[in-house]
Amino acid sequence: YAKQLGGNQSQSYTPTLQSESLDDLTLETSLRYALERQELQLYYQPIVGLQNGRIVGAEALVRWHHPQQGMISPVKFIPLAEQTGLIAPIGEWVLQTACNQTKSWQSEGLPPVRVAVNLSFRQFNQVDLSERLVRILAQSGLDPSYLELELTESILVQNVELTIAKLNELKSMGVQISLDDFGTGYSSLSYLQQFPFDLLKIDRCFVQDINTNATNAALTNAIIQMAHSLNLKVIAEGVETPEELAVLYENKCDNIQGYLFSRPVKAEEFKRMLKEGKRLERQPQSLPHLTE
Ligand code: C2E
Ligand code: MG
Ligand code: MG
Ligand code: MG
Repeated sequence: YAKQLGGNQSQSYTPTLQSESLDDLTLETSLRYALERQELQLYYQPIVGLQNGRIVGAEALVRWHHPQQGMISPVKFIPLAEQTGLIAPIGEWVLQTACNQTKSWQSEGLPPVRVAVNLSFRQFNQVDLSERLVRILAQSGLDPSYLELELTESILVQNVELTIAKLNELKSMGVQISLDDFGTGYSSLSYLQQFPFDLLKIDRCFVQDINTNATNAALTNAIIQMAHSLNLKVIAEGVETPEELAVLYENKCDNIQGYLFSRPVKAEEFKRMLKEGKRLERQPQSLPHLTE
């Protein structure tokens, strides 16, 4: 159950015996105050380039420290925020915090890295999303090329022309767009071709056990090759073992993200990794043909 809840905290969220709807109602009330009570916090999970093993960016992942229930997973409260409209102020806070933080690392002279922020369906469809982004970028002073917006296939089921126009509007600001959790929806890569994405993130469920699961390996490799032919960079999500990593090296995956390198960590911890130049170690025993 804890694994399903995600995050890097093993304790805390205690399921109650209340009915789902009552539970949600109670949660909704406290979510309304979570921002002003400063119960939300951004964690950062490093994204690493396989060319040289260096950190190229981080995905910002929101955490809610509920005063009674402890840590609540975004898997639980983001859908609730979407249903109630609270996603607007929460999403705004996430974008602001991620941009300000990333700019401040750059100002301190740390190696510049990009920050990836998740946008939910409803956020993507906010009429004033571009204006909000322009303002947040200007206020933070972050160069837009360092901001990456992660969208899921859910946005692709609506009017195609409108979605493409909206994506192009965002891209014209200079931000990067990635398609998150690829493989979990129903889009084929040929369908995706018409949308102006920069990066594709292969969902964890395909990356899992690629060293032993032939189906997953075949799918992952096919996705990487086709994505490259469409000029998309590929990030493998949820890389947990050196053996999985070895297969991704072999298949020329661009970036990886996962517990193998680091769990999502607090800002100070991520800063320390940047400062110390933490790198992905190549495991010679699993990569005999790649050792230098
Ligand atoms: P996601 O965008 O696909 O984020 C990746 C999730 O996979 C994160 O879960 C991360 O902690 C987890 N993960 C990373 N590496 C590994 C690994 O090696 N093994 C395993 N088992 N898990 C790994 P997290 O932080 O619980 O977030 C879950 C989802 O909640 C995210 O999925 C995203 O859809 C949503 N979310 C998180 N933060 C935000 C936010 O600020 N705004 C919005 N709209 N959604 C968010
Ligand atoms: Mg994501
Ligand atoms: Mg994902
Ligand atoms: Mg996911």
